[in-house]
Amino acid sequence: MKVGTGKSILNGIAIGKIKIYKAPKLEISGELVKDPQAEVARFNDAVEKAIEQQNVLYEKALEAAGEESAEIFSVHAMMLEDEDLTDAVHEVITRGKHTAEYATKQAFDNQAEVFAQMDDPYMNARSADIYDIEQAVLNILMGVDTDSMQGTEPAILVAEDLAPSETVRLDKSLLLGMITREGSSNSHTAILARSMNLPALIQCKEIDDSWDGKMAILDGYNACVYIDPTADLLETLTARQKEDEKKRALLQELKGQPNTTIDGTTIKVYANIGGPSDIGAVQVNDAGGVGLFRSEFVYLNSKTYPTEDEQFQAYKLAVQSLAPKQVIIRTCDIGADKKVDYMELDPEENPALGYRAVRICLTRKDFFKTQLRALLRASAYGNLGIMFPMIISLRELNECKVILAECRKELEAEGVKMGNPSIGIMVETPAAVLCADELAQACDFFSIGTNDLTQYVCAIDRQNAKLEPFSDTHHPAVLRAIRMTIEAGHRHGIWVGICGELGADLTLTETFLRMGIDELSVNPKSVLPLRKQIRSIDLRA
Ligand code: PEP
Ligand code: MG
Repeated sequence: MKVGTGKSILNGIAIGKIKIYKAPKLEISGELVKDPQAEVARFNDAVEKAIEQQNVLYEKALEAAGEESAEIFSVHAMMLEDEDLTDAVHEVITRGKHTAEYATKQAFDNQAEVFAQMDDPYMNARSADIYDIEQAVLNILMGVDTDSMQGTEPAILVAEDLAPSETVRLDKSLLLGMITREGSSNSHTAILARSMNLPALIQCKEIDDSWDGKMAILDGYNACVYIDPTADLLETLTARQKEDEKKRALLQELKGQPNTTIDGTTIKVYANIGGPSDIGAVQVNDAGGVGLFRSEFVYLNSKTYPTEDEQFQAYKLAVQSLAPKQVIIRTCDIGADKKVDYMELDPEENPALGYRAVRICLTRKDFFKTQLRALLRASAYGNLGIMFPMIISLRELNECKVILAECRKELEAEGVKMGNPSIGIMVETPAAVLCADELAQACDFFSIGTNDLTQYVCAIDRQNAKLEPFSDTHHPAVLRAIRMTIEAGHRHGIWVGICGELGADLTLTETFLRMGIDELSVNPKSVLPLRKQIRSIDLRA
């Protein structure tokens, strides 16, 4: 038996054969042709077919992941109809007497390069789309049957990475799970895996061609894959898979039910999301709202600084589609493990203790204002909360509020409509816990970030796998810090929630309820299990 490890996108077990998904390498020769007109006709025919394909992909994506994800394929179809691009291909064929394949590669690569050089981030992003449609045309010209790459039997699909067009083209009925060597938690593979409720592993470096066709178990709970598992393991994890199915069916009955304990204590159960594409999961799992929208994923998903308008569209979509439910958007928490090249952040000796989150925002004021203006504009469309991460002092919180007020004033002068978002902070540093009384008087809510709080209270780098034996998520110091934060918040009349991973730890639900927690924000899939747990607790006992 071999074991591969990675990052789990969704808990759950998938059992089946591995199918290695590999795009064939296309060899394009520079040979000259005798009949350029025939090549032009071949190219035109391929473009027509590629447009048809994009339209089919649009319909598929619409059904699987909604309008926002599907839109890309109507953009692709439009790009394929662009006469400048097709004329450029015709020119290479007729003047240079080249094949349709060669001309497609030349002209499309050229166009992609032009887009890549542009300053406008929107046009910049179109470069990847040109490569995507170029591949579609070349596949048709060279007779590559992309559909057969998935095989004909249900399997756990293994790939280096998956482009959006590839992911959406996959036949869902043949997908048991997905594993990729690359990819981020917010990659399209991850988004689609989540929306399809499929166990998935990303960043699995052990992937090997020899796995093809082998029996495997993808264990999302332990973020690993077993190749040729032992009979014992197969039996244990098959039982776990069956148990999961039973539980899932039973949980559906909890939709629409209150998060109320036997003795009548009700709390809010919200969901954590990485962007608008997770809105479906919030609704399907019946979360009461969004307790943490990690806005930095909007930045991580972009090749350059996302504009105010791009951000506004993303925030508005979440706020508007979930209204009147509350949506709490955390301002950009970039830095430490979350880096983007375009921000040109210097390497640091201690990144977790370094230049990150609000520290970047308060020193790059224009950068911060772009996001705050987008948030204020989105606040007109529903029930928005704005949350500042990594706060260590009242001074920082006040500075954030001053900049926010400045943005409000500017937007008012521009005649832009806005709502009245509530303002909160992440309590994820020991300093915030110890200053919680002062901070509570200056905001509307606290959300405890137990992931970072544990790292800072216990001085355990959360990125360092070697430290796992020393790490104790139930460390009494962390639990005490949570209690202190809840008590301080309540002394000053504000609500206190938890949005770190500990919020979904069902062994602690009763402890948190006894501490007086008001809200738990967890990944969408954990909403119903958490509701079940809450409803089984009697605080009088
Ligand atoms: C946390 O630190 O607990 C948290 C929710 O934020 P992140 O995991 O994104 O740092
Ligand atoms: Mg954090």
